[in-house]
Amino acid sequence: MRLSRYILPTLKEDPSDAVVLSHRLMMRAGLIRKESAGMYVYLPLGWRVLRKIIDIVREEMDLAGALEFLMPELTAADLWKESGRWDTMGPEMFRIRDRNGLEYALAPTHEEAFTGAVRNIISSYRDLPVNVYQINTKFRDEIRPRFGVIRSKEFIMKDAYSFDMDEAGLESSYQAMRAAYRRVFERCGLDTIPVEADTGAMGGSNSEEFMVASEVGEETLLLCGGCGYKANREKAEYRRADGAGDGPKKDLTEVPTPDVKTIEDLTRFFKCEPDRFLKSIIYEADGRPVMAVVPGSREINEQKLARAAGAAQLDLAPDSVVEEVTGAPVGFAGPVTKKDLRIIYDISVKHVSNGITGANKKDVHFEGVNPGRDFIIKEEADVTCAEEGDPCPRCGASMYVKKGIEVGHIFKLGYKYTKAMDVAVLDENGAKVTPIMGCYGIGVNRTMAAVVEQHNDGKGIIWPASIAPFDAHLVGLGKSDEEIAAADEIYEMLLAEGIDVLYDDRKASPGIKFADADLVGIPVRLTVGKTYFQTGEVEVKLRSGGEVMKVSREGLAEKVSELLGQDPTMKA
Ligand SMILES: [Zn+2]
Repeated sequence: MRLSRYILPTLKEDPSDAVVLSHRLMMRAGLIRKESAGMYVYLPLGWRVLRKIIDIVREEMDLAGALEFLMPELTAADLWKESGRWDTMGPEMFRIRDRNGLEYALAPTHEEAFTGAVRNIISSYRDLPVNVYQINTKFRDEIRPRFGVIRSKEFIMKDAYSFDMDEAGLESSYQAMRAAYRRVFERCGLDTIPVEADTGAMGGSNSEEFMVASEVGEETLLLCGGCGYKANREKAEYRRADGAGDGPKKDLTEVPTPDVKTIEDLTRFFKCEPDRFLKSIIYEADGRPVMAVVPGSREINEQKLARAAGAAQLDLAPDSVVEEVTGAPVGFAGPVTKKDLRIIYDISVKHVSNGITGANKKDVHFEGVNPGRDFIIKEEADVTCAEEGDPCPRCGASMYVKKGIEVGHIFKLGYKYTKAMDVAVLDENGAKVTPIMGCYGIGVNRTMAAVVEQHNDGKGIIWPASIAPFDAHLVGLGKSDEEIAAADEIYEMLLAEGIDVLYDDRKASPGIKFADADLVGIPVRLTVGKTYFQTGEVEVKLRSGGEVMKVSREGLAEKVSELLGQDPTMKA
């Protein structure tokens, strides 16, 4: 491709609205342009990269035995009503009507659509297992689109859905996807961290996210250097120490605490460490009040609490509900109560002795609170967030924290959709069996942004060879007709040899050409300049660094192929 005939609007300056590195570099290297909030135009160079990622994803999915579909992106409301998600998906789902008033969603995900399609095709155990997928656009009405293509309203996703006869079958489908995902990301040059994840509202029992460590990541990962335990914050567990408190059990005593409300106020007032306090917060789980009791220093993990409560929807209770169920204003709730209230205790609470809690009375706390004597723990669960430095749940070593971008997610869905949508096949004995599902996603645009986050230097992007927009960047520096003709000839020769080459034949200064080559980040740079006109040798340089090599015209194509072949992503 001749750059003089190409569209590559590189920028010298960082765009002011681009706050993360990948966004800045993708804009500056002429890969994308913003169309409107959360929507991006992929220019020819950016689309080339995206297509290469898509090709890798498709190859690995096909190798794993998955079957590619093309699904409508308009999905009928009836499908969503069958699963119940028409009502629960919330404002993130774009909903529209056709001219006859029929309702549709612009699909944010395709569980219902694929389940609906597969339901009409499979009828026997002989039809299973099957894993179906597509690489298609998804839509989400993001409340805050940001970070360029990392969080946008419209994006390309590979989504796959497996259907198996039983849990053992699902396990093998899941493991096949797990292996395929590792290969996809390795081939794209991405260092991913697979972490245990919460299955959230999707329901299900087993789930893993593929994270890319990044300071702009919106997910928090807890990692153990000792045994390799990895989990996201929604899921991460930690080992509990013996509780706070000391000495023999004291009597339960009321203490007047006017204007003492926050944990900081309380530690000052009672002169003790925060974990002596049993923080008691009232939530509404599917509309019913539930109190969560956790040590004072800990943050409640709402995902864990929702799971423990078996609730699809969990919200902080409004003040009026708090006053109703505790009999006191907000700030004085506690588990020592005669009211019939569901209470879920964090698993650390039983270790606390001589604790302090709200007395369910205005301006009063209890001191000397002891589990088992002053309240009975009927329901306990891990409902707190693990923090940096907490002991690993498996080996006890201190865990550390990293921020991550989620690029892939695999999980065992179970029977949620096949049951709700009445999918059945006949087994060997002619009995009806409900298939069990798994679901597997890769964010394609995010993967591209994550690669840029991981592969760059002060001058621009350094593409892994596997997904680089071109193999080689040929820079012609000649001015005379003869010199230009010589560079043209090299270009034609490389094309004929099957090298995918971007040829900078513009009338621009060497400085501009080299700066653009560095910014755009094509793996091999070839310069036809003074050296070539004097000695017949082309200067060859890797974008990733190293010496300038001088290669004769005859050996050039072979040298480029050899260099590309040495790239780790080409060996993966
Ligand atoms: Zn560990």
